Amino acid sequence: MSDCIFCKIRDGAIPSEKVYEDDKMFIIKDIDPKAKRHYLMIPKRHFKLLSEMTPADAEDLSYSLKKLPELSSLLGLEGGYRLVINQGDDAGQTVFHLHVHVMCGQPLDFPDLRKGK
Ligand code: AMP
Ligand code: ZN
Repeated sequence: MSDCIFCKIRDGAIPSEKVYEDDKMFIIKDIDPKAKRHYLMIPKRHFKLLSEMTPADAEDLSYSLKKLPELSSLLGLEGGYRLVINQGDDAGQTVFHLHVHVMCGQPLDFPDLRKGK
């Protein structure tokens, strides 16, 4: 089996709090939430980076993004939400199976990341 933690979650080999699943993607609660509600939207097809995305991968990613409005009440997106994709070292990517962070449920700060330079 793949070494990838999100592939293992997808396949049920590692438990998770799945809140939505269909044939192309699934959504779990982040184990270490950074907002009142913090989900990970994960295409089922494994790819590491946006830069490695095939046309089929891109289709699954756009499918996932377009699905969000439909999941608004399930996820509690009514007040607004923020989507984040961390790619590579500078962004602090830790899991190399592309995923979209979905944060919501509160007013979301937009920090000035230049501070501390
Ligand atoms: P990133 O830094 O963008 O690669 O994000 C990886 C995210 O996966 C982090 O926010 C982690 O808290 C989250 N994470 C890691 N392992 C698990 C897990 N087993 N279940 C749920 N979320 C996880
Ligand atoms: Zn994977």
